[in-house]
Amino acid sequence: MGKYYLNLDHDIDLKKTMDIEIPALEWIPFNDRFQTVWYINGKPVHITMKQIAPRKLYFCYNDKYVDDEYIHKRVRNLFPFYLDQVNTGSLKIIQELASYYRNVAYMKSMDPFRSLILTILSQNKTGEATRRAFFNLAKNVEISPLKLSEIDENYLRNLIREAGPYKAKFIIKISEILKDKFDGNLSNILLLPTHEALEILTSLPGVGHKTAACVLVYAALKKDILPVDTHLRRVTYRIGLYNTDIPFSKVKKKVIINHLLSIIPDAGYAHLYFVLLGREFCHSRKPLCNNCPINNLCKKRI
Ligand code: SF4
Repeated sequence: MGKYYLNLDHDIDLKKTMDIEIPALEWIPFNDRFQTVWYINGKPVHITMKQIAPRKLYFCYNDKYVDDEYIHKRVRNLFPFYLDQVNTGSLKIIQELASYYRNVAYMKSMDPFRSLILTILSQNKTGEATRRAFFNLAKNVEISPLKLSEIDENYLRNLIREAGPYKAKFIIKISEILKDKFDGNLSNILLLPTHEALEILTSLPGVGHKTAACVLVYAALKKDILPVDTHLRRVTYRIGLYNTDIPFSKVKKKVIINHLLSIIPDAGYAHLYFVLLGREFCHSRKPLCNNCPINNLCKKRI
């Protein structure tokens, strides 16, 4: 059994960090731990993570013969920064959110292809269903374009059943395209300027703007793009971030994206504030305004 202690230079709220970020969904919770499966030199390695102090995480893995340094490096890169280190710009309300969520770490996906598959599995599914489907897949198959381009479709449908078996055909097709046209390597696409990478990603079957944006903000740490989900739409509207009298249902996604990109320097990372706030306080039906950390600053356009 291999072991590693990760000492952090910042307190971490692991529960909130592991709640909704795409790279977190590859980890499945059990008791006070999280577990995932990484493939190293073609071998599945089960990794377990546990918080043992505000700034200390414990990792163990089931194979003492794997390259320790590879695992340690990957673990050290999991949490590149925290939400109070995001460049929020000058808006007080965004700064308040950065302060409130200061101990939430922003996660980096070390493997863009896994990130893409995770995001596809998460489409229209809960985090729990996504985690179970991905874990089931990762336990049984190496998640790479080469392996998934050759997998039997019915087998894949079964493995990802909880997250929507119909997604199997997209995953196989995407894997074939990446293998045939991009040397099976998604990383090269992510090195391109954001608009070019976005164009290629959204040309893949089953990949829309939000899915592509998730891959770009988590696997490439791009900050000039943002994934727009229902929480972000609702929260940014209620807060009053747009100077518009248009009713909520008529606000276009493009307007939201362009406006947030123009007022928040690290908009790509800041999207997490709105998603977290939407899940914790700014619920669709009964927002918890009295407990909300930005109650005094919010325009409450409900
Ligand atoms: S104060 Fe109310 S409406 Fe405004 S963000 Fe908080 S929960 Fe939502």
